[in-house]
Amino acid sequence: MKYTLAEFLKDYPNDAACLDKVFKLRFGDKKRTCESCGNETEFRRVVTRRSYQCRLCYHQIYPCAKTPFEKTRTPLNYWFYVMYLMTTTRNGVASKEVQRAIGVTYKTAHKMTTQIRKLMTEYPNPPKLKGHVEIDETYVSTGKKNGVEVGRGALNKKPVFAMVERMGMVRAKVMDDIKMKITHPYIEANVEKDSQISTDEFPLYTNLKKLGYNNHGVIKHASEQYRHGSISTNTVEGFFSQLKRMVFGTHIHVSEQHLQKYVDEAVFRYNHRFKDVDMFGSLVVRITDYIENNQ
Ligand SMILES: [Zn+2]
Repeated sequence: MKYTLAEFLKDYPNDAACLDKVFKLRFGDKKRTCESCGNETEFRRVVTRRSYQCRLCYHQIYPCAKTPFEKTRTPLNYWFYVMYLMTTTRNGVASKEVQRAIGVTYKTAHKMTTQIRKLMTEYPNPPKLKGHVEIDETYVSTGKKNGVEVGRGALNKKPVFAMVERMGMVRAKVMDDIKMKITHPYIEANVEKDSQISTDEFPLYTNLKKLGYNNHGVIKHASEQYRHGSISTNTVEGFFSQLKRMVFGTHIHVSEQHLQKYVDEAVFRYNHRFKDVDMFGSLVVRITDYIENNQ
C-alpha cells in the first residue's frame, strides 16, 4: 500500500493532529471515563501543552508520556515526517538528510532517527519461522569511514547472524562471536523444528540434525555451488545486501555499539516489505506498543 506524501500531509498537517493520533492510539475515544473524577466525560486538548484535560475536573493526561517523544520540544509533525521518510525510502535516511529536510541541528536529527529506530525493534517473542528457512552469517565492517579504514580497520568486523523464512520474515542479530553455543539457542528459539533448512557448508551448521532439524540441505559455496534443487541461501544473502546498502550506502559509517539498531531497522523494513502493508502505519502503531514493551 503506497501512502503518499500528499496523504501524509493531509492526515498530519500539524502538531495537534499528531498528538490526536497518539491520544487515539493510547486512550481511544475522547469521550471516556475520567480516572480522576470517575465521570463519563470528554477530554479536550490543552493548547499550551501536550496534554488533554477532563472537561469536569480538569484532570490532565499526557499521551506522549513514556513514548520516544516524551521529552521533545521538536514539533510532533516533524517527528511523524521523519517516520514517514524512514518508512518510504528503500535504504533508510541519514541524519544529515533529516537535518536538511526539517531544519533542525544535526544533534537533534540524530536523536530523532535513533529514537525512531527504537520503535523498529522486534517485539518480544515473535512467532517462530517455518516452511523453508535459510540461515547464514555475514560480517559488517564497523571500522570504515567514507570507505577508508579507521581505528583497528579491517579487524573491526562484527558478525551478523540471520534466519529468513522464504516469502516471510527475517530475524537477525549482531553476535560477539559466531559459535554454536550462541547460535544454536538462537536458532531453536526462532525456527520450528519441522522446517526445511538451507545453509552453506560452514562447520557451524554441520550438526543441526542433533538439534532436531532433520530437513537440512547444504550447498557448497566453496565449490561454487549456489543452488541445489530448492536448497540455496540466496534469500538470506539478499537481506544481507540490503543491510549493507543501508549501512554503507546511506549511513557511510556505523559504529559497533549501534550496529544492532541498524540491523533492527533493516529487519523492520524487510518484514514490512509486502505491497499490501502500510509501513508507516505499522510504525505509528508502535508508538504505544513501545510503552508496553519497555516497562
Ligand atoms: Zn475528571
